[in-house]
Amino acid sequence: MNNSTLNTLLKEYEKKKFNADLKFEKAKNEFLESHPDLLEITNKLNSLALDISKAILNNDTEHAKSLKKEFETLKSKKEKLLQNIDVPPSAKEPLYECKICNDTGYVTLDNNKTVLCNCIKQKIFDIDFNKSNLGNLDKENFDNFDLELYSDVVDIKKYNAKISPRQNIQNIKDIALNFINNFDNTNEKNLLFTGNTGLR
Ligand SMILES: [Zn+2]
Repeated sequence: MNNSTLNTLLKEYEKKKFNADLKFEKAKNEFLESHPDLLEITNKLNSLALDISKAILNNDTEHAKSLKKEFETLKSKKEKLLQNIDVPPSAKEPLYECKICNDTGYVTLDNNKTVLCNCIKQKIFDIDFNKSNLGNLDKENFDNFDLELYSDVVDIKKYNAKISPRQNIQNIKDIALNFINNFDNTNEKNLLFTGNTGLR
């Protein structure tokens, strides 16, 4: 894998995530501003959360306990309020392109190992694939394969074969198709194309 491809993609992901987060913040704020009652509760909850942290830090357990109670009451009040309001999806959570990695490009596995997400792996594959000569598969494929281009004349002297070039290419096509159709079969042998340099 090309490192600069990964770095370019990761930069794109960073931008993508930043924009999604920004859009969400904007949508959330706009939504809250149009619902003053909800905004008030949200602000109160935020400041209560801060007070709880302070009380815990100061070892003021009793105060923290009563603040937590207040917090829970207010929280359920907010939830009740939200039941009657239609929150637009954009204001509910950031709308990331990839729900698995949240547009970070990485996922953490159960063993705490961080690996590349499949979405970014696919992108790397697509880029590498296009760089190879296989990128024009949409044009050069079996559907556009024209047997008529090959002569159906048997000429042992000219072609050094007992069959016509058309029959020969038909046989090759059958072998290639058989290979593709049995690709998942572990007993299927590999296919090797050989020829002079420049043949494709
Ligand atoms: Zn992903």
